[in-house]
Amino acid sequence: MISFDLPSNTKKTVKFREPTVDDCMAFCDLNIELEERSTTEYLNALQGDNYDDSINWTGDDRRMALWWIFINTHQDLDLTYNYHCQHCDEEHYFNVNMVQLDNTVKTLDRKPVEVVKTLINDELVPITVSPLNGRALQYIEQVHIEALQFDKESSDYAKAVAYMRMLEVVLSFKLANEPLDWEEAIDYRLAIVKGLRQEKEFKPLVAKIKIALQDLEHGLLSDIQEGIINLISPPHYCPNWVEKNEKGEATGNAPSTTLLMRFHSFAFIPNALEV
Ligand SMILES: [Zn+2]
Repeated sequence: MISFDLPSNTKKTVKFREPTVDDCMAFCDLNIELEERSTTEYLNALQGDNYDDSINWTGDDRRMALWWIFINTHQDLDLTYNYHCQHCDEEHYFNVNMVQLDNTVKTLDRKPVEVVKTLINDELVPITVSPLNGRALQYIEQVHIEALQFDKESSDYAKAVAYMRMLEVVLSFKLANEPLDWEEAIDYRLAIVKGLRQEKEFKPLVAKIKIALQDLEHGLLSDIQEGIINLISPPHYCPNWVEKNEKGEATGNAPSTTLLMRFHSFAFIPNALEV
């Protein structure tokens, strides 16, 4: 069994079994547009009957779990990248061993929630900010699938993308007096957010959520921009850099580069039989 502590709550340990041929068969029709849903199914399937539903885990818990299962079950863990070095103006090859990402992991010693006050309809109101969980990510994924039916140049597509960005905000916080039902609560928050004044209320709300989420960072070091997730590589030191001291001895202070490595769940979910 593979033991895994959730980075958002290290007191919670779950156990995964190793993926089998049967799992490969089960996920062979994995739809890349449904990677969040497949992630939930995969992480639950590997836990067996008494699973802790991964739909409630944060996106970072889920990504780290996929990575953790991967590094504990695969032999070849090197990914090769090449990049243009800003320091010596040459191309370098960089072998990233996936295990090395372990050095970038952050864990939280408190619940992944933060209460901040923000201006809503001229009143300072407390909101509870938390990272997007599996359920929120699946909801956004569904809206994305609906957006894909539109031509990418169309105004319908632009509106759907704007709605997705709005959902990322609305699904990142809760209000004290909102409906208990999850979807009704989204509609309630959406109606409030749509009525906010753009400069004085909406922008500060987004900024406060962003700062709170930075305080709550956990899991593998990553960068998320407009729904695109990149893992951040360990530093790679320029091999051509030779800095010398006054005696002409190399000092070894080579400048480093970190790379953004696009993250896709399906790269970590076995869905093809490697024979
Ligand atoms: Zn270089």
